[in-house]
Amino acid sequence: MAYIEPAPIKDKENPLESMMERFNIAAEKLGLSDEVYNVLKNPAKQVIVSLPITMDSGKIQVFEGIRVIHSNILGPAKGGIRFAPDVHIDEVRALAAWMTWKCAVVDIPYGGGKGGVRCNPREMSPGEIERLMRAYTLAMIDVFGPDKDIPAPDMGTGPREMAWLMDEYSKAKGTTVNAVVTGKPLVLGGSLGRTEATGRGVMVSALSAMEKLKINPFQATCAVQGFGNVGSWAALLLEERGLKIISVSDISGAYHNAQGINIREAINYRDSNKGTLEGFPGADKLADPAELLELAVDVLVPAAVEDVITKKNVDNIKAKLIVEGANGPTSFNADKIINEKGIMVVPDILANAGGVTVSYFEWVQNRLGYKWTAERVNRRSDRIMKEAFDQVYKTSIKHEVPMRIAAYIVAIDKVAQTYQFRGGF
Ligand code: GLU
Repeated sequence: MAYIEPAPIKDKENPLESMMERFNIAAEKLGLSDEVYNVLKNPAKQVIVSLPITMDSGKIQVFEGIRVIHSNILGPAKGGIRFAPDVHIDEVRALAAWMTWKCAVVDIPYGGGKGGVRCNPREMSPGEIERLMRAYTLAMIDVFGPDKDIPAPDMGTGPREMAWLMDEYSKAKGTTVNAVVTGKPLVLGGSLGRTEATGRGVMVSALSAMEKLKINPFQATCAVQGFGNVGSWAALLLEERGLKIISVSDISGAYHNAQGINIREAINYRDSNKGTLEGFPGADKLADPAELLELAVDVLVPAAVEDVITKKNVDNIKAKLIVEGANGPTSFNADKIINEKGIMVVPDILANAGGVTVSYFEWVQNRLGYKWTAERVNRRSDRIMKEAFDQVYKTSIKHEVPMRIAAYIVAIDKVAQTYQFRGGF
């Protein structure tokens, strides 16, 4: 039997600490009571399981699976499941808390949760991934539920994995329960518009911020880090709105074309090239992929992983606006310098909330047994994203704080008010 050892938090700044530092600043600005502070600083529930999986070789390998529910005061917990080699409990705790704040910012009736399995799906066969997902689901059978905790895709998972989760959960319950998970394939009750929802929300956030900064989209340049679901949709939709996307990147490297990259062509190339941009003829490969972050663009969209803008490179960031497609791409230690430089940041808990917003629509449709048109989904999610942006912007002016702290203030205030009414034990 092989056991995958917990990965140390590499040389990253700890995402849980980054989250807590911002939470502390916002809590102080709000004058949050000690009672509510103490409730929110720790997750409500943390489950860690060992999952023995028979690999294709016939050997059994044990994987660690985690689910953290940060809060369910506003409603059932909501948040994705990440399959990645560096999944760490502190990261999952931070991501779960970010889901609480994210759902509160866009005012949808959910708490925050997150799951993770430490594995490398790129090196696993579909059969191995399926067995792992089914085992994880069974291990979490009493945690998940349409009124308790509703998972969704995150890094390394997608509609295929959500279908296995729904099927395993439904078998265990003896009836089809499609509202237990969102981000499903359409035929299983997935929502139209869910695939592009996060990228679409990034686009709406970027345009709202550009309006405030008086940046004309038709004269603006943009770089997008990450060409997975979030990055590629954000790039495509921003290009459609007039921005020139001069650089994109993925696991194979960063690509640059000062005339603008044709994003549709890049997506088609990626889809016919085992999912990577390696060898993409429409742009030049940059010597160092990290250069993308330091380009003199109007809009920078980090849409890959956590902790890419840190104290190490923040001095070199030249963008006027950063729109965080990923969760936690900017470390706490970089915030101060970004603010001093006058760069506006639309923070993750606002900018990438379009995904969970359409997840909420999916859950509503499942519970109604009814399907909305793509037009209705997009119209409603655009409205929610725009209203959330305006509220956070107003809060940032009122409290004289950056957009990130303003977003935390909006979220924490909502959760705190709910506690006031619901009370404790
Ligand atoms: N994993 C996505 C996020 O971080 C989506 C979560 C969801 O739809 O529940 O926001």
